[in-house]
Amino acid sequence: MESILIKGASVVVTQDRERRILRDFDILIEDHRISSIARDISATADVVLEAKGKLVMPGLINTHTHIPMNLFRGVADDMGLMEWLEKKIWPMERKLNPYHIRAGALLGMLESLKMGTTTIFDMYFFEGTIAEAASKIGIRAVLASSVLEFPTPETRSAEEALSIAENFIKEWKGRDPLVTPSIGPHAPYSVTPENLIRAKEIAVDENVPLQIHLAEDYSEVEQMRKKYGKPSIKHADDLGLFDARTVAAHVVWPSSEELEILRKRGILVSHNPVSNMKTAAGFSPIPDYLKNGIRVGLGTDGAASNNVLDMFETMKFAALIHKGYMRDPTVVNVRQVLDMVTRTPAEFLGIKLGAIEPGSMADVVILDIKKPWWIPLHSPESHLVYSARSSDVAHVIVNGKLVIENGELTTLDEGQIMKDAVKASLDLLERSGVKSFLSNKL
Ligand SMILES: [Zn+2]
Repeated sequence: MESILIKGASVVVTQDRERRILRDFDILIEDHRISSIARDISATADVVLEAKGKLVMPGLINTHTHIPMNLFRGVADDMGLMEWLEKKIWPMERKLNPYHIRAGALLGMLESLKMGTTTIFDMYFFEGTIAEAASKIGIRAVLASSVLEFPTPETRSAEEALSIAENFIKEWKGRDPLVTPSIGPHAPYSVTPENLIRAKEIAVDENVPLQIHLAEDYSEVEQMRKKYGKPSIKHADDLGLFDARTVAAHVVWPSSEELEILRKRGILVSHNPVSNMKTAAGFSPIPDYLKNGIRVGLGTDGAASNNVLDMFETMKFAALIHKGYMRDPTVVNVRQVLDMVTRTPAEFLGIKLGAIEPGSMADVVILDIKKPWWIPLHSPESHLVYSARSSDVAHVIVNGKLVIENGELTTLDEGQIMKDAVKASLDLLERSGVKSFLSNKL
């Protein structure tokens, strides 16, 4: 494995336990890990990155996405949820096969890496294909094979989905250090109690995380109350779902009693502020979560409901929307937001990630801060949340490998990835009968 020396970094936002911010430091990466941080490291390395005028920080972690949905970006916006699903998303989704999945996944991963994201949590179909894409392009990925009661492009029944998920986990566990396989029962309203329990059992037996959409929309919670006499989180808890290490996406509508369940069970809430506003789901009570010691990570959700996988933008929204909604500028501060994209999800995963410190896995982002919007540098933490642009990302290192160098992908041909994604999108339009600006070119 190549060694990398980051030389003379003007600023290092370590995100270590003391949240130290260092000036003019070198960082040595050897054998996939950060081996030392000091002034004037004299060691030689295979790659030397001059980092004067640059800021170094841990790679960003996106805790919720559906990465192949990049192919659906902008195909339909500003519509009611059911119309959006029935007229646009579902007809296209039904036609998906591994060819489209691969093209969409690589596009989403390319976009993520170029914007400084080094780990994605994903939930979709054909996760084996997505795992291969992650391994090839060089992004860290926690990949959940979806379980739904109704037919998907990959499965005819929940029974089949459970067995595909179990096989996927067995096949990928320990196979590639970048890939953590996982299981994704879609939501409490779309999976029966029996199958939620079976999904949980697989996660527990295999000791992998479980990912689920939870209390996303108010109507979901009402539906659950009608059907089971209790809201979504309580329903899932009573089934023992949270015996599995659980990432719960959205969690916009908890009852006050359910906060204690989220805390006690160590659930990682994936907050998706942009998606929640776009689908008009509401405002997740993040200030309450933080006050109650509930773990919070940040996610983009799929590109169909965002529409860009930009974690810098997501950080800014996360820091702002709760202030506006609650009319209180003190809620959700920049340090809390930085923890949501680094330390907190890393801790949940149990992988030594999310900080620039010796022994940590080398997932590192280097930003060019010789830009007007970084000046004056009164507070690097504030600038990362409120002023940084994802286009400031110069270099990205994942698992000790330089995957983005001067803004360009080093592992695969990025021009080809974009071309293939256009081709796959056109093919989906043709197969589904959905029209867009792209079809006009035919
Ligand atoms: Zn989602």
